[in-house]
Amino acid sequence: MAYAYDSENIFAKILRGEIPNDTVLESEHTLAFRDIHPQAPEHVLVIPKGPYVTHDHFANEASDAEIVDFTRTYGRVCDLLGVSPGDGGGGFRSIANAGQDGVQEVPHFHMHILGGRPLGRMLQPG
Ligand code: 5GP
Repeated sequence: MAYAYDSENIFAKILRGEIPNDTVLESEHTLAFRDIHPQAPEHVLVIPKGPYVTHDHFANEASDAEIVDFTRTYGRVCDLLGVSPGDGGGGFRSIANAGQDGVQEVPHFHMHILGGRPLGRMLQPG
């Protein structure tokens, strides 16, 4: 796998504490914080602390400990936001954009969690 990680991307700066963030939850390998331009009443980004560019990069190269920590933190964030249908929440959408066709703005893997309103269909035609 030939991903090159840009350590000057904005989420790397957040992880180094150079830029403030509105943290929802932090664990050993994972940080969850509110998106600066929320597109729904609840809009949280869950990111690994390690230098992974996309979800496939993370899935292929992260350690088991990082993957378990990320997945459990993601689950806990859904609980904290109250969006889980399993707990009577209204539901949510998870999105991980990758690369040019995925229109990824920040080249550090992040999972968007969006909820708090009906979100419409997943993709627009075209
Ligand atoms: P992407 O398009 O890469 O999937 O999404 C990047 C997301 O990062 C966007 O939703 C954007 O609003 C968010 N974002 C960009 N810069 C910052 C920042 O400095 N702080 C926070 N909290 N979110 C940011």
